[in-house]
Amino acid sequence: MSAPRFGAIESGGTKFVCLVGSAPDRIEAEVRFPTGEPAPTLARAVDFFRERVAAAGPLDAVGIASFGPLELRPGHPKFGHLAATPKPGWSGVDVAGPVAAALGVPVAIDTDVNGAALGEGRWGAARGLDTYVYLTVGTGIGGGAVIGGKVVSGLIHTEMGHLAVPRIAGDAFPGSCPFHGDCWEGLAGGEAMGARWGVPAEELTGDALREALRLEAAYLAVGLRNIVYTTAPQRIVIGGGVAELPGLFPLLRTELSAALAGYPGLPEHTAEDFVVPARLGRLAGPAGGLVLAAGAATAAQRQTRSGAGPSEGTDA
Ligand code: ZN
Repeated sequence: MSAPRFGAIESGGTKFVCLVGSAPDRIEAEVRFPTGEPAPTLARAVDFFRERVAAAGPLDAVGIASFGPLELRPGHPKFGHLAATPKPGWSGVDVAGPVAAALGVPVAIDTDVNGAALGEGRWGAARGLDTYVYLTVGTGIGGGAVIGGKVVSGLIHTEMGHLAVPRIAGDAFPGSCPFHGDCWEGLAGGEAMGARWGVPAEELTGDALREALRLEAAYLAVGLRNIVYTTAPQRIVIGGGVAELPGLFPLLRTELSAALAGYPGLPEHTAEDFVVPARLGRLAGPAGGLVLAAGAATAAQRQTRSGAGPSEGTDA
């Protein structure tokens, strides 16, 4: 039996990353290109996989970690389609269907944030845990919760960036969320930081950086307090550009400890390894695609074995 060979797509608002492999350190080919109009962009992804199939044989499955919002209810007629999105031309687009139809292999899809959560759980900073939260703090804020080994998803995926958080005393910034103004993302996302301080967060230096980090850590901590109390994570992993600002994590741990105020008094909540940086970096999304693909392949095999599949004898 040969090693599995999966396709992964990270479908982002600005770029697509497609790769073939089985793990972040076992990638045989990768391509990145800008996200343009839906049809040609998806066709470019399909072409890449077809080339890889022609060059080195069939894929077992493809996993897609996509920007959202996405319809993810199994059996829903619009499963795998984008809902209303500000990305021009992409509202209502079927992301998973064209890939599955063109390649004829099992295809799984979830959000880019949930994908990154799965990737960090399999290979990164949440490895070995079954209940954790992955948060990305980039332009906006997004969070994926894995509870008992499964990504939380119901009517829709989670939207942790839009949590309501209390305002830090003295902060008069109105907030940048187009829907809620001063929600968590509206106060603490990278776009909010840029608007509040007048320069992109990564360009802040000296006293301005120190002041920005102090406020950012305070806002992230009050949101994390809500997440700690509602999902009981074993760990919180944070990725995204804002998470890479130097010196954020020690401040954040101190602020979270203050926000929890000794309740319920678990030493784990204030330990160094409770709130940690993501480890997979820019590979987190595509790695999530690989985890999703593996799940799709396993589900398809199970179906074949139970006699529901079209044929037997296709296994190498
Ligand atoms: Zn909001």
